[in-house]
Amino acid sequence: MKLWADFHTHTRYSHGTGTIKQNVEVAIKKGLSAIGISEHGPANIGIGTDLDDFARMRDEVEYLKGIYQDIRILLGCEANIISLDGDLDIPEKILDQLDYTMVGLHPMVWTESLRDGYHLLVENMLQRRMDSLKEKVLRQNTLALIRAIKNHKIAVITHPGLHLPIDTAALAQAAVKLGTALEINAGHGYMTVEYVKIAKKYGARFAIGSDAHRPADVGNLRRGIEIAKKAGLNENDIINAVWIPEISSLPTPQRG
Ligand SMILES: [Zn+2]
Ligand SMILES: [Zn+2]
Repeated sequence: MKLWADFHTHTRYSHGTGTIKQNVEVAIKKGLSAIGISEHGPANIGIGTDLDDFARMRDEVEYLKGIYQDIRILLGCEANIISLDGDLDIPEKILDQLDYTMVGLHPMVWTESLRDGYHLLVENMLQRRMDSLKEKVLRQNTLALIRAIKNHKIAVITHPGLHLPIDTAALAQAAVKLGTALEINAGHGYMTVEYVKIAKKYGARFAIGSDAHRPADVGNLRRGIEIAKKAGLNENDIINAVWIPEISSLPTPQRG
């Protein structure tokens, strides 16, 4: 299975170690025809990207596009969900300037209110030891994600279920309806074949992402491909294997 893009890469703008230029150069070396820069939104505690930096990244990307003409360079993001209502930490005005938007649930974020923090952070920690909370937390996490993809144009949900439990079946059904792909994260070692099989049963589409935090890991998608194959996916299920027009706001594979 040959993938044409890696939509999930980080740089020094958050807690990655490389520059946009270095990520692009590795992507070219690995034969990708598109690379996405997808920084965390500002709500990640200690590692978030300043909102002002999105304009700087855009300038850098535009400059690099002039130099590297054999690859499509895209500016995306990995926004955080900061409330139970699915609000994001990057305002619409900035999202409109990006080539695509991804969202993820992360355990350490500044939430919109204390109440949201209690539900999204504290209860998620407590449920690890308190079985009575598990159902409630699962429902809350899933609902927050579904509201986020309902209220915003989201191309990909990153690493569903990482650290924060979700109802894969419910999320997959909503994602299919709303034109959002689910990620098979090749960087974290936790993604299971089972999760992919459940989501696939409901017709979900997937994006395989490296979640590279250093340039050398850009385009390292093999672990994701293996999971995809074991779950019985083929290229038509994967948005960076073939072009799937149903996925909202996903950039086309052609340069432009
Ligand atoms: Zn993430
Ligand atoms: Zn990431």
